Amino acid sequence: MKNNIINGDFKRFDLPMQERCAYCQRKATRLCDADIGLIFDAKNEKGIKIPIQRAKCSLPMCDDCTTRYGDLDFCKRHKDELKVILNRKEDKK
Ligand SMILES: [Zn+2]
Ligand SMILES: [Zn+2]
Repeated sequence: MKNNIINGDFKRFDLPMQERCAYCQRKATRLCDADIGLIFDAKNEKGIKIPIQRAKCSLPMCDDCTTRYGDLDFCKRHKDELKVILNRKEDKK
């Protein structure tokens, strides 16, 4: 039965890197929703511009390391920018 315990522990650290929390290495359950700006005018092979898109941080995090605000999650780096992001959304209304 000792082997089962060892295997159980090992499995925890056998997740692919992007499924682990970036801060504590536990299983990631959330991605940072912070808006990190625009993806600029990439062109296709015919020289036609591809529409600009918004990019998200998408840093993987666990429940304990995320900062929740409504339906959004923010990493430790971006939670300081939360007010700026919220102000931007209010401008659109
Ligand atoms: Zn974590
Ligand atoms: Zn982030």
